[in-house]
Amino acid sequence: MVKFYNTMSKKIEEFIPGGEKKESINDYPPVSIYSCGPTVYGFAHIGNFRTFLFNDILRRFLKFRGFKVNHTMNITDVDDKTIKGALSEGVSLKEYTARFTDIFFEDLKKLNIEEFEHYPRATDSIDAMNEIINRLEKKGLVYKDNNSIYFSISKYSDYGKLSKIDPESIKSGTRYDTDEYHKDDIRDFALWKEISKEEPGWQIDLGYGRPGWHIECSAMIRKIYNTTIDIHTGGVDLVFPHHENEIAQSEAAFDEPFVRYWLHAEHLLVDNSKMSKSKGNFYTLNDLIEQGFSSRAIRYLLLTAHYRKQFNFTLDNLKNASQPLSRIDNLVLNCEKSQKSGEIRELIKDRIDKLINDFTSSLDNDLNVSGALGHFFEAITDFNKYYTESNFTLEESRIILECLQKIDSVLGIIFFKEEKKVSLSEQDIEDYIIKRDNAKKDKNWDEADRIRDLLLDKGVVLEDSKEGTRWKTV
Ligand SMILES: [Zn+2]
Repeated sequence: MVKFYNTMSKKIEEFIPGGEKKESINDYPPVSIYSCGPTVYGFAHIGNFRTFLFNDILRRFLKFRGFKVNHTMNITDVDDKTIKGALSEGVSLKEYTARFTDIFFEDLKKLNIEEFEHYPRATDSIDAMNEIINRLEKKGLVYKDNNSIYFSISKYSDYGKLSKIDPESIKSGTRYDTDEYHKDDIRDFALWKEISKEEPGWQIDLGYGRPGWHIECSAMIRKIYNTTIDIHTGGVDLVFPHHENEIAQSEAAFDEPFVRYWLHAEHLLVDNSKMSKSKGNFYTLNDLIEQGFSSRAIRYLLLTAHYRKQFNFTLDNLKNASQPLSRIDNLVLNCEKSQKSGEIRELIKDRIDKLINDFTSSLDNDLNVSGALGHFFEAITDFNKYYTESNFTLEESRIILECLQKIDSVLGIIFFKEEKKVSLSEQDIEDYIIKRDNAKKDKNWDEADRIRDLLLDKGVVLEDSKEGTRWKTV
């Protein structure tokens, strides 16, 4: 039974898509999932990618369990930050956000994040925002001040149910124009904003201006799904005010529940503190790749911790990630080179069944990836032991590889195909080999391995022999 922790109930709940229990997983309608996506005003950092990887594991796992999925991630291409960025560069909002949207998609590919079904842009959903604002206006829940339109939270009695805010702290009639604010000072929020001369604007029935951030997600969800969705995800920092405001607008406008399960991913810390450019612990994906780390190791490390736990990212952890990955590669290699004929040993069949069972039940329990990885590595130890005892037969290799494919449909790290680009000159490669030889002479095996892995990531394979080290590209 699949279970998730629902931020709304603060409990682990059985997952029932569509709200109605069915006999078999095949009978459920596709699971509708909406994940708050990036605001495309700069490079996403690894904290963002932890959340995006959580979305990836969630959809892969649901598919692994036999559900169909219909998943959306939005692109926020108009808000305070994007407008500020475009204005400061003196380019159009479209040109500015298109650049960062492209980079974002490239990063997703590098991390082996699956392509979702929909990637709507906020600026393509103005019609749906118009409809929501009109509905709210008819219900007397909005008011205008100059050319801005605000949602009056005191007129909506359910306000605050996700973040469990104290109704006493609500200051209705006082307002926020900014997209982000804190829980200790809760005011009416802008659905539609008055604009200055240089800002881009759109006409809706109630005026000319631009959307507030919160209305965008409500509008895109309505436009794509047109009814209650199963899962809404995002980082914990979005619970308030963003998701709280999404619920208020959507439920007030359409008189039906907005979302069945709210799943929130915890923060990533770097070197035990919050990432910030001033502290020098702020990494984009490319920062790490340029330092020689593989995107496979980055993916692996970012998904090792449970999504509801804070995770402390360090470069040392990332360096260490190559060890478990090479244990996996070893097993795959052992399978691939096993060609002898013969029966399948019972103990291998049993071990595969046990692995699939343990792996599934860990993930069933609120997507416990760390537990699932634990079972996976225990099994690798056993498989390698069976290999040492008596090499695999061809048939044994086949069923082990099949099992690994199944596991990898969730993890996406075993058969991870990295784009191998040789960006090194022959001289660079020779220099690395000399450095590695020196490290070996000093018995600094870690450094020697690091150089070998670094070259491998760039598509250069080293072959050690009595005559020295040769290299070839793959
Ligand atoms: Zn959102």
